[in-house]
Amino acid sequence: APGGLLGPAEIRDLAARLGIRPTKTLGQNFVHDGGTVRKIVRAAGVAPGDRVVEIGPGLGSLTLGLLDAGASVVAVEIDPPLAEQLPRTVAEVRPDLTDRLDVVGADALDVETLPGEPPVALVANLPYNVAVPVLLTFLERFDSLRTVLVMVQAEVADRLAAGPGSRTYGVPSAKAAWYASARRASTVGRSVFWPVPNVDSALVRMDRRDPPSTTATREQVFAVIDAAFAQRRKTLRSTLAGLAGSPAAAQAACEVAGVDPGLRGERLDVVQFARIAEALGDGAA
Ligand code: SAM
Repeated sequence: APGGLLGPAEIRDLAARLGIRPTKTLGQNFVHDGGTVRKIVRAAGVAPGDRVVEIGPGLGSLTLGLLDAGASVVAVEIDPPLAEQLPRTVAEVRPDLTDRLDVVGADALDVETLPGEPPVALVANLPYNVAVPVLLTFLERFDSLRTVLVMVQAEVADRLAAGPGSRTYGVPSAKAAWYASARRASTVGRSVFWPVPNVDSALVRMDRRDPPSTTATREQVFAVIDAAFAQRRKTLRSTLAGLAGSPAAAQAACEVAGVDPGLRGERLDVVQFARIAEALGDGAA
């Protein structure tokens, strides 16, 4: 395939040689389209010399694209045969790029440190079942990450990028907003994957920003977000009663925070959640 990227024939051949039968539980849908790989790399804005962390490199389609763009890549793969094969694939297809690749064979959710330079970008075609926890965990653990460009299920992309009041706004949107601004980029058709998934995909770009300035901790703010969305139809006065101690205390905390306690969580942005957490923490309630 052009540029040493993996096309349909290479993907099938690699999988057959390794005896790989893609599993649904690990979200294994491999990209076999060079155009999609280039689109992801371009949208990520990867520059030569950038240190990039990739979660779930699979058979290596995107890894090769990132290396080809001049990045140095640390790839975290849970499936041992795939993790073992990746350096060999790169050595076969692009022997000139092998010294810029590190592979970590692990569940991304368990990874607390990464080898080499701190990564400035996370670029991945994420395993769909763990996409949101992986994203939030990496943004939390690796301060060095400035940008994220991930391919996820289209519905998850909508959620991550949604703002207050939108139908898809929820816990992932509000928590992601603590770390970054998120924008849904292009939709990706199912035909670029093998095997073909039964959902559409989309790219999401996130750019790190400072968290809201507040005396509450991130854990306290996330606890307020979780509680506010636990019962979507109820108002803050009742959803926050557990955290505050009583509906009256929840109402008082909202008032101190300048938020109408008769609203539902879906109307609030992360700054307002942070103000409520702060009011609860100050014992205003
Ligand atoms: N990047 C490849 C591509 O675009 O062709 C593969 C993407 S595939 C959607 C997701 C990959 O993530 C698979 O290789 C799967 O084994 C791996 N994976 C699944 N869960 C994981 C986890 N918790 N930690 C690290 N890798 C994981």
